[in-house]
Amino acid sequence: MQQLQAMVLVMGYQLVFHDGGPKGATSFDNATVSVRRNLTEAEARVTYLHELVHTFRGPAHLADEEAEEEQVELLTSRLLIPRMENGLTDHLVRRRFKVDAECVEARRRPLREDRIA
Ligand SMILES: [Zn+2]
Repeated sequence: MQQLQAMVLVMGYQLVFHDGGPKGATSFDNATVSVRRNLTEAEARVTYLHELVHTFRGPAHLADEEAEEEQVELLTSRLLIPRMENGLTDHLVRRRFKVDAECVEARRRPLREDRIA
């Protein structure tokens, strides 16, 4: 986790924490990544990487924010779960790759290559 935290700083973002609400948020205006306190280890791992991917990609146009969010979820899930072997249950995937249920769900969605660029 410390490496992921350090990467946020390397990207030039300040790292802060919040209580309640979304697990993470990236503010491009303030160059700040905020992560909710008291996440499970798996949730924190997914959240840090998710927000990092936002910092890599930068802000989306207002009209594209929903699509951008989905794309960040897909990319994050593919980085954390590089292989989906047939027959693995969600529970086993979560345990093997130390990710949360939302990440597994995102990983099972098809990747739309046209949205990556
Ligand atoms: Zn996001």
